[in-house]
Amino acid sequence: MQIKAAVAFEPNSPLVIETLELDGPKAGEVLIDLKATGVCHTDGLAMTGTGPGAALPQVLGHEGAGVVADVGPGVTSVKPGDHVIPLYAPECGTCSNCVSGRTNVCIGNTMAPMKGLMKDRTTRLRLGNQPIHHFFGTSTFAEMTVVPENAVAKINPEAPFDSVCAIGCAVTTGVGAAIYVADIRPGGSAAIFGLGGIGLNAIQGARIAGAETIVGIDINSDREGIARQLGMTHFINAKSEQDVVGAIKSVTNGGADTCFECTGVAAVLGQAIRASNMFWGHTLAIGVASPTDVIPVAAVELVMGRKIEGLYFGGAKGRTDVPKIVDMYMSGDIQIDPLITHRMPLEEINTAFDLMHRGEAIRSVIVMD
Ligand code: NAD
Ligand code: ZN
Repeated sequence: MQIKAAVAFEPNSPLVIETLELDGPKAGEVLIDLKATGVCHTDGLAMTGTGPGAALPQVLGHEGAGVVADVGPGVTSVKPGDHVIPLYAPECGTCSNCVSGRTNVCIGNTMAPMKGLMKDRTTRLRLGNQPIHHFFGTSTFAEMTVVPENAVAKINPEAPFDSVCAIGCAVTTGVGAAIYVADIRPGGSAAIFGLGGIGLNAIQGARIAGAETIVGIDINSDREGIARQLGMTHFINAKSEQDVVGAIKSVTNGGADTCFECTGVAAVLGQAIRASNMFWGHTLAIGVASPTDVIPVAAVELVMGRKIEGLYFGGAKGRTDVPKIVDMYMSGDIQIDPLITHRMPLEEINTAFDLMHRGEAIRSVIVMD
């Protein structure tokens, strides 16, 4: 079938809207008619040709929502008409990671999606004779996409696509970190570094988990208002405050119980560790730093018991937890709409990246017509 999609051809170049050929679903695969997709930093990183999952030319996008249009042989868990969120964090339930009970990172698709391919190491996308790669097994900057059955979460059919698509990445990464991974206790304290799509969701997760003191840190003070609306109690501008660590300690009784690093800057991860409680402080490394960056922190800082933990997709299990987070949105427990600052058609997707790079958008959502 022919589909309209935004294609990344060359590193550091705008996406190009093209009509591509998309093969139908093979055994164990699902065809999704996409209705909306968020635009995330990870897509911007892949546009440089170097970020995780980059394999140009490819159709980027990993924060989508839509309706199942068709299923390949053997697919039993979804059927045409089901409303779904495609998952870059699949959940096969049978690989050694899934059965270990120790991680939410499924390896059932043999990591082929990180190389821009389906599990059988081929692509379903072509421009003329030129193969076009998938991205993260999702490729949501398109009218339609083919994904493995284990990378589909079936959601409440009442949920609006142009809001809940953000649960495919930002919302789950931030809220999940707070409710599935952090050990936040009622009355406790949290410090969130970086108030973008991820950090703002970590704020609402920390609030739901019962944190009383929620400190937000950013170099962009435009983020203060929305962060307070979601539950932040103290704001620190990291540009004007000379001693960020000291400022956090002074409002958290000596150090935050939980620190969330949501900037992707390794130096900030060092600050987060030092700003955490000396004895039980727990620092969650969520931001994705450049592969050569190391954490600038003295080893002795850990001696009394501080912990650092990396996490993927908020520690959430894709098929199990994403539908629950959609229900949290539907019942009003979490907010998504204030985070979606712009909506636009696929043709204007490069504007969404411009707004993101200028720090003007928290999330832009592409709405398919
Ligand atoms: P974003 O750009 O929207 O937000 C980052 C925020 O950090 C911005 O508001 C920026 O002003 C602020 N910031 C930058 N430098 C700072 C500094 N020195 N001190 C304080 N604040 C600073 O990005 P996002 O979409 O929220 O993503 C955040 C990070 O999370 C990225 O690195 C992204 O790649 C990563 N991420 C990780 C996962 C995961 O599963 N671990 C999933 C999605 C995204
Ligand atoms: Zn698995």
